[in-house]
Amino acid sequence: MMKGNILVSGGSGYIGSHTCIELINSGYKPIIVDNLSNSDIQSLDRIEEIAGERPEFFEINLCDREALNQIPKSLRIDALIHFAAFKSVNESVADPLMYYHNNLESLVNILRFCTERNIEHLVFSSSCTVYGDAKELPVTEETPLQKASSPYGNTKQISETIILDYLKVHPELNTISLRYFNPAGAHPSAKIGELPRGIPNNLLPYLTQTAVGLRDELKVFGGDYNTKDGSAIRDYIHVSDLAEAHLKAFEFMKSGKMTSNYDLFNLGSGNGYTVLEVIKSYEKVSGEKLPYQIVDRRPGDVEKIWASTEKAEKILGFTPSRGIDDITKSAWEWEKHYRKNIEKSIS
Ligand code: UDP
Repeated sequence: MMKGNILVSGGSGYIGSHTCIELINSGYKPIIVDNLSNSDIQSLDRIEEIAGERPEFFEINLCDREALNQIPKSLRIDALIHFAAFKSVNESVADPLMYYHNNLESLVNILRFCTERNIEHLVFSSSCTVYGDAKELPVTEETPLQKASSPYGNTKQISETIILDYLKVHPELNTISLRYFNPAGAHPSAKIGELPRGIPNNLLPYLTQTAVGLRDELKVFGGDYNTKDGSAIRDYIHVSDLAEAHLKAFEFMKSGKMTSNYDLFNLGSGNGYTVLEVIKSYEKVSGEKLPYQIVDRRPGDVEKIWASTEKAEKILGFTPSRGIDDITKSAWEWEKHYRKNIEKSIS
């Protein structure tokens, strides 16, 4: 039985497409809204291949409020998951207005849309970047926020505030913000995964591109941090686990057990790994050596951060089931699969 229609903004992107698969597998019908600014229409084919259903798709820029009228008023929308946003720290430093405009204007339109269409449940993609260089570890949902170190991080802080202000005067709308730690890995089918445009900023795509020979060597940013091996610590969470957490968040809202109309949760694994440990995990699962070099720290990076997973576990019943080796293995499989297909299509 079909359980409900869920509008997924940014649904053809990395986390969005994995979430659409989880939604279909659990009996929901995802409807994607995306302007394809950082994703490919082909991800619809992949979702269909993996999950057996093709999501309905609207090519819409969320900054264009009028364009949202393309979504028929007769369509009942049970929840909205709002992924669509720009997410590059570097790019946001270089072009702050592009980030403030895109990420905030689209959120404003999403909130208006929820009211116009009587949507009762909203899940918002936030980030652990809101904690900055946290003084206490692990980071809990009560850990005080630090001033954002980039316009990107600031858009996530401001977005959370916009939602809170709006919910005060819209008690009929329930919202959960999910603060992601480091999403990584790919679907076990290797048919979808992270596909950054240009040179990757994030560790896993850079690592796997190095593994397949696309990059000469991975640069490990910083070898003199106060950690066990000198490299920085992050909390990597498998993208399929993250996808499942969105469903749990929605089902929690629907259960009527929320004590107010807003809540927020960290989504991490609770484990911190150094960059060198991630490399070791890749070398173990692949049986291959990775060329790498330790270089200077990257400006703006924090030394270490990992999540307390207690609240998500207790309230949402969410615990990630995949570990760091599943992350490096699936990311590597995806990279190999993707490059092989590209070669095939060129030759
Ligand atoms: N990192 C690295 N080399 C790279 C990319 C990232 O050493 O080419 C390190 C980065 O300094 C950080 C960790 O890997 O300690 C995760 O970085 P990423 O950019 O993936 O996520 P962030 O935690 O910065 O959001």
